[in-house]
Amino acid sequence: MAEEKKAARKKIQASDLMNKIMSDYFYNLHEAATSGKQKVAWCTSVGPAELLRAMGFAVHFPENHGAMLGATRMSTEMIPEANAVGYSPDICSYLTADIGAWIKKITPLSKAYPGITSVPKPDVLVFNTNQCRDVQDWFSWYSKELGVPAIGIASPKNVDEVTDSHIDNVTHQIEALIPTLEAISGNKLDMNRLREIVALSRECTELWRKVLETAMAKPAPLTFFDGTIHMGPAVCLRGTREAIDYYKILLAELEQRVKDGVGAVEGESLRIYWEGMPVWGRLRQNSDLFAGLHACVLASTYCSSWIFPSFDANDPIRSMAKAYLELFIVRADTYKEKYIKNMLEKYHIDGIIYHDAKTCPHNSNNRYGMPQRIEAATGIPSLVLSGDLNDLRCVSDEQTKTNIEAFVEQLQERK
Ligand code: SF4
Repeated sequence: MAEEKKAARKKIQASDLMNKIMSDYFYNLHEAATSGKQKVAWCTSVGPAELLRAMGFAVHFPENHGAMLGATRMSTEMIPEANAVGYSPDICSYLTADIGAWIKKITPLSKAYPGITSVPKPDVLVFNTNQCRDVQDWFSWYSKELGVPAIGIASPKNVDEVTDSHIDNVTHQIEALIPTLEAISGNKLDMNRLREIVALSRECTELWRKVLETAMAKPAPLTFFDGTIHMGPAVCLRGTREAIDYYKILLAELEQRVKDGVGAVEGESLRIYWEGMPVWGRLRQNSDLFAGLHACVLASTYCSSWIFPSFDANDPIRSMAKAYLELFIVRADTYKEKYIKNMLEKYHIDGIIYHDAKTCPHNSNNRYGMPQRIEAATGIPSLVLSGDLNDLRCVSDEQTKTNIEAFVEQLQERK
């Protein structure tokens, strides 16, 4: 078997600054919700956050809260609460963990940020089904529970080439949200403000891309596991100056590592691509397992999904529509396969892990023969790990460890 040694990934110094930025973000949200000075919108991860910010909303992302429930390993206990009110254990475990936590009046925010006792109460819920239908169901539940409107975009799916008619469709849907949002916020949409926010989102996205692309270096200065944490500002604060300032600092640290030949994983000997959702409750465990085997999981579809090259301040709404449609999860397998093959080449990948997340078929791309097709085309072996993003009842630690060790051994033998 591949020999596992005690080795951890190298700590990123900018982490403390990121924690401060995220703390400020959550306290600001709390202040907005409790003081009533600013309206609060909940938004799906690739929903129209730029529009909401431009209209003066403080923006909360329930998926981020779902991931926090997973990372703190609180989610597995929350899920049955949502099952009891009719949401199956087989559907999105962000949804079931988040609704379960609301029912139990529990949030990981309380422990991390003393004084915050609840997620911020929304004035409006805004979804985009570009990722899945679950987000609409999720927001509909809160709409009924809290008596606030849930509005959104019904996105095309399974898109190969993004065409003008797709973009027209989503553009019109975004425009149709504006009167309702103006009525709730009490603010008229200022197109110049929207241009500024879209420009900030674009700058954030460019910096985040550069951060991730430092992992093209050998050895890679950051891992997928670092990426899942450091993407916090790209998810929650895109469209703000804070996110941009943070990624400049993180990028400088990683570029210095590259110059000094410092890798995130000591003695990097294998380079691995992660396809699918993280296992939030096992980030540390998986990170240590791979690092101990000198295997660096250094690139992923998941972290790269927050790169939106189409944002354009000159054409803000249409470019938002295009950016939200170009998202990997929206696309057909033909596009996805091209994308992954390009990533394998770009990052000099030796092997691929497909995470088959029980409750997220939308992000489990192993189910329709893709691993076999990509392996036949590239010769790069893959491993399918059964698990879940948040429901740890679907995760077998022993099986995961055995499978990863055997896979790493197979990759080492090929080298
Ligand atoms: S894409 Fe998957 S994890 Fe994300 S909200 Fe939809 S079902 Fe949940």
